[in-house]
Amino acid sequence: MKRIGIIGGGFSGSLTAIQLIHKSAACEIILINERETFNKGFAYNPYSDKQLLNVITGKMSAFADQPDHFLDWVMQKSAFKDRDRTLISNSFLSRKLYGDYLVDVWNKNFPLAAEKGIKITIIDQFVVDLDIAPTTVTMVLDNGEAIEVDQCVIATGNQVPRNPNIQNTAFYPNKNYFQNPWILAAVKDVDSNLPVMIVGNGLTMVDTVLGLKENGFNGEIFSISPKGFNILPHRHNGLKYDKLVEELTENMSLREIYQLVSKHIKTVREYGVSAEPVIDSLRPHTQRLWKGLSEAEKALFMSRLRHLWGVARHRIPLHTHDKIQQLRIDGKLHIQSGRIVDFIEKQNRIEVHYFDKKEGLTKSILVSRIINCTGPETDLRNVEKSFLKNCLLKGDIVQDALKLGINTNTDTYQVKKADGSYHSNVFTLGGNLKGELWESTAVNELRIQTERLAEQLKVVV
Ligand SMILES: Cc1cc2nc3c(=O)[nH]c(=O)nc-3n(C[C@H](O)[C@H](O)[C@H](O)COP(=O)(O)OP(=O)(O)OC[C@H]3O[C@@H](n4cnc5c(N)ncnc54)[C@H](O)[C@@H]3O)c2cc1C
Repeated sequence: MKRIGIIGGGFSGSLTAIQLIHKSAACEIILINERETFNKGFAYNPYSDKQLLNVITGKMSAFADQPDHFLDWVMQKSAFKDRDRTLISNSFLSRKLYGDYLVDVWNKNFPLAAEKGIKITIIDQFVVDLDIAPTTVTMVLDNGEAIEVDQCVIATGNQVPRNPNIQNTAFYPNKNYFQNPWILAAVKDVDSNLPVMIVGNGLTMVDTVLGLKENGFNGEIFSISPKGFNILPHRHNGLKYDKLVEELTENMSLREIYQLVSKHIKTVREYGVSAEPVIDSLRPHTQRLWKGLSEAEKALFMSRLRHLWGVARHRIPLHTHDKIQQLRIDGKLHIQSGRIVDFIEKQNRIEVHYFDKKEGLTKSILVSRIINCTGPETDLRNVEKSFLKNCLLKGDIVQDALKLGINTNTDTYQVKKADGSYHSNVFTLGGNLKGELWESTAVNELRIQTERLAEQLKVVV
């Protein structure tokens, strides 16, 4: 019987397994993921009920062919039964609730496997190495066990953020520095007598600020990022704008795309509308546009436009935005543009040296804690305790020039080797395709990938 190993059981790994249960004849699926995050990954296993999805309910179905699947599931819950469906469809619900949904989707689909002769084994472990041979793949686990499969899916998703590049690298084991911002420990038991420094200024910064508040922190919070852009709220969820898309053509250069987007943003601003619907209208086309760019254009995008794009794309619910703005008005949250220079431990406290871009000066501040919210690391050379780094060193995988992901055939999901050929038995999806597709992060994209990948892997009788 064909054996398929899936490394990582977050959204991508568990939905690939569910799609296989539906599409495949008898086979064996071995899913490896630590118990606590099984089905949910980091994103949907939050430490607080108050951490919200950044996509509305109506767009979070796990299945592309059943767009209302999540909404229907929500509306059946007693807490939502009497609520207005349209309102809920356009609301940002909690990520914890979405995690419950994914567990329920798993529990409902899992029994079908036995009926179809599909054996599923879930292993509460971490894969530390991968040995790829022409017809087999061996997954080596944290406990030393080795599991041989015929085909292997790398669904490892989000890696913890990269440590800021500082002079005093010996600082890093410091107990008041949190490289992983997605765990409760990062925001719990923080001394309010000194400020907290958050590195990064995106969606995780917002979650972290609210998490600190929820856990009793009452001091000042500093957040630093290269541009210090203000995070934006969702304002026009109901507006549709299709004029830009009508003007998109094949093989547009980055300059042409930039000019077109700028022109349409100017147009909507004349109606008192923000760039939001213009940027959203590009979403179904970004993968194609990215693929059409040259390597030099991609590099230019990353150095000049990525931050701007991030702000326009990654918005937060309006009421969450108001909370953040209130903290800024009250002098409790300071968002700065600049760069971390060094961290020095000083008697249980940390002196942060940073370059303040606005004032053109290097400054220092004493803080009780540093939380790294710079976003998932994609450069596998920096990812410790991961089989991916080993695979990279062995030439079993290669990264794109910008180190955004793993080079992969985006039609078959087969992973590329250093010699330029593709593995017949190793596949990947999700965030690992960022270099190939740029937008390969949200449920919206991943649900399609899980379905297509299952088509590639399924056993046909
Ligand atoms: C904080 C946060 C909030 C988000 N909110 C939204 C949202 O509201 N809407 C949206 O559409 N998208 C959101 N996203 C994007 C999100 O990444 C995807 O929606 C989705 O969770 C990605 O699923 P995944 O399975 O690819 O990765 P992950 O969720 O990261 O899951 C990967 C799994 O693989 C496991 N793993 C990794 N390495 C190994 C190994 N070596 N051995 C065994 N297991 C391993 C991990 O423990 C994890 O459980 C959010 C992301 C983050 C980080």
